[in-house]
Amino acid sequence: MTLHDLDQIYRQAVLDYAQHPHHKAPVTKADSCQIEQYNPTCWDIIRLALTVEHQTIVACHFDGEGCAISTASASIMMDLIIAQSLVTTKEQIKLFLRMVTGDDGDYKMLGDAQMLAGVTQFPARVKCATLPWHALSLLIKQIEGE
Ligand code: ZN
Repeated sequence: MTLHDLDQIYRQAVLDYAQHPHHKAPVTKADSCQIEQYNPTCWDIIRLALTVEHQTIVACHFDGEGCAISTASASIMMDLIIAQSLVTTKEQIKLFLRMVTGDDGDYKMLGDAQMLAGVTQFPARVKCATLPWHALSLLIKQIEGE
């Protein structure tokens, strides 16, 4: 398998996540803990909602209008963070933001989100990939500030 093949597979996997997003459901007023963010370079809008109990994310979902990359990124992120502690999640946000700068490192902790490392080759897409992670970071700050 060449690197190019691997790249194709990752691209397909990312598209699968975008076409069949996990944890996608309307964010409504009933969601007490939510945030909306947008990416002005691509007009992606994302809304996240979390339910946190005892410092653990027990439920999460998202909606919005975004491109394939931002939707896939949100979908993969939600798969990763559900049932996790806020401490671990914050660690993963930091790692993800470092990964997409193209920094070499050990990103195993990011699971499927490692598939998005390829966006470093497309600087305009980095903002699409990081949008959900920045939104999550802000939302956790809100929660911890309460
Ligand atoms: Zn986008």
